[in-house]
Amino acid sequence: TAKGDHSGVVVTTSGAHDDTDRQRLTTLEELRAGLDHGELILHYQPQMEIASGAIPGVEALVRWNHPTRGLVYPDGFLPLAEHAGLMGRLTLQVLEMALEQSAAWRAAGLDLTVAVNLSASNLHDPALPSYVADALTRHGVPPAALHLEITEEVLMRDAVRATRVLAELRATGIHLAIDDYGTGYSSLAYLHALPVDDLKLDRAFVTHCDTDTRSAAIVKSTVELAHNLDMRLIAEGVENETVLDRLREWDCDLVQGYHLSRPQPADRLTTWLQQRRPAPVR
Ligand code: C2E
Ligand code: MG
Ligand code: MG
Ligand code: MG
Repeated sequence: TAKGDHSGVVVTTSGAHDDTDRQRLTTLEELRAGLDHGELILHYQPQMEIASGAIPGVEALVRWNHPTRGLVYPDGFLPLAEHAGLMGRLTLQVLEMALEQSAAWRAAGLDLTVAVNLSASNLHDPALPSYVADALTRHGVPPAALHLEITEEVLMRDAVRATRVLAELRATGIHLAIDDYGTGYSSLAYLHALPVDDLKLDRAFVTHCDTDTRSAAIVKSTVELAHNLDMRLIAEGVENETVLDRLREWDCDLVQGYHLSRPQPADRLTTWLQQRRPAPVR
């Protein structure tokens, strides 16, 4: 195995630091191989429109199907991918898989939007908008069926460049969302100028908004802010029915969270959708 090959190589200094470096290097080699061998897979989490109960779309979340470690979650490899300059390749793979799945759902009569997460380095790639447009055409997916999510933290790190790239993407008809809103110190001036459709309020403010009055105040005022800017508010991290009831009262538009469904493979999500809403009579 890859692990066996590495274990015998270096036996000299062995501080915790070296072990960590060695582990990172191994993981990085494995990740490069994983990208070559198609080990990345997507799970999909549904988004529900509170008012209607409808599921207009899903978010694609990447996992690494590691040959020996099993399913590795984003926290376990995205920081490394970003650091090693692999995010460009990773995002293109994710986009391909998400659009292929989107086309399959559309062919099956399921009209779902699919949201894909972008990273910081994606915004530094001037070819991204034309690549995305090309991928949409190849898969026959209408631009409005693709949502791209950028974290507030990434947006604000380079707001001028981000605004330019986002404007270009949005001009093609793609839908944009600010992710993890509330954790990245947005300047309201930029929020006002950014060409985005949705604010996704970070789960830190959502999960306990039924019991924590300060979270409740933040949720309520963010709904109002979003609506005043003609954006929709999506609440992340809805884990129980009471939170959902509060969000409905406060006029939040959409929710995502374990209460509705955990992220799951496409085939299981398809079954979930069909069981939830009986298939139309043909
Ligand atoms: P995110 O985009 O904010 O995605 C939401 C995360 O919250 C997901 O974690 C999801 O599984 C989790 N989540 C959803 N509902 C609940 C809930 O009710 N309670 C709790 N506690 N958690 C919930 P995941 O899949 O581990 O992804 C973590 C982050 O990794 C994502 O946060 C996103 O920033 C990043 N990520 C995931 N896939 C991709 C990708 O393809 N590309 C890039 N650039 N980033 C990605
Ligand atoms: Mg996201
Ligand atoms: Mg988020
Ligand atoms: Mg997040």
